[in-house]
Amino acid sequence: MTVAPPKVVPIVDGHTDVLLDLLHPNRNPGRDFFARGAAGHVDLPRLREGGIGAALLACFVPDDDVANGRALIETLRMVDLFRRLVAEGDGRVTHVFDPAGLRACLDDGVFGAILHYEGADALDPDLAVLRLSYDLGLRSLGLVWSRPNAFAQGVGPQDTGQGLTGAGRDLVRACNEMGVLLDVSHLNDAGFWDVVETTTRPIVASHSNSKAISPHPRNLSDDQIRAIAENGGLLGLNFAIGFLWPDMGQRTDLPLDLMVDHVAHVADLVGIEHVAIGSDYDGARVPDAVADASQIGRLVEHLRLRDFTEPDIAAICHGNWLRVFDAVWR
Ligand SMILES: [Zn+2]
Repeated sequence: MTVAPPKVVPIVDGHTDVLLDLLHPNRNPGRDFFARGAAGHVDLPRLREGGIGAALLACFVPDDDVANGRALIETLRMVDLFRRLVAEGDGRVTHVFDPAGLRACLDDGVFGAILHYEGADALDPDLAVLRLSYDLGLRSLGLVWSRPNAFAQGVGPQDTGQGLTGAGRDLVRACNEMGVLLDVSHLNDAGFWDVVETTTRPIVASHSNSKAISPHPRNLSDDQIRAIAENGGLLGLNFAIGFLWPDMGQRTDLPLDLMVDHVAHVADLVGIEHVAIGSDYDGARVPDAVADASQIGRLVEHLRLRDFTEPDIAAICHGNWLRVFDAVWR
């Protein structure tokens, strides 16, 4: 009798920054999304090797461009790049707009690209750019990166402790209505609680960990994790070593056990249905054990070793993301 090897469980990755290196080749030369490379963490061959069936691809604008008034043009350049990856993928990459499209990707092995803005810097308070972005395929929005904008403030040195502005609350309501997922990673504490109070749909912290284990300001307190769970949302496990180590250190020899500890903490606190994966590949220094997208299966294997069941693992890898998108997207 032969025993079938465990089926590869498809993964939805809640956060990757691959577009940034592709748009700015001088940041990390030699990147090609369609060729297996050694630079950076993500390309299509390595996503496939890792079993990553879909991911939120972040459009991020560097500080200098925001300061120079170029947030909108730089965001549109990233949207254009995203759409060119889909077009040039020749059937290997699909732009995912809805839950059916996401499920199809997880079933048939075509990579599903979900368009995400990491920060609302490009948006205007009248929300014209939000409406146009939706038509271009935007389905997920982080209110801020780690800096202030017209809507909210991010964690970091410029945080004055203020919550959402009036325009910020309007933006939350508009995203609820249009079916754009709201992401609270990078948001400051006051803004977080304003979003929780305002939103009528599930929210996510796409790439944040537990402060109870690693007290980094980018991570969430147990109270915040409980609020996300009550709201029906989720936390995506961020692979950034500084958000994983209890001393927030930068050593890359981080054990898989510590990554699983963060997953287990959320699962013990609020249930397995509120924890998922948001690697931050190409946006952070990550553990050697999951050094690029092709290695992510080692985390899944380690969940098995720590006695997570197959249904638990399916929930963490993609089921929880599907539930949230079902509840948010129209
Ligand atoms: Zn980020």
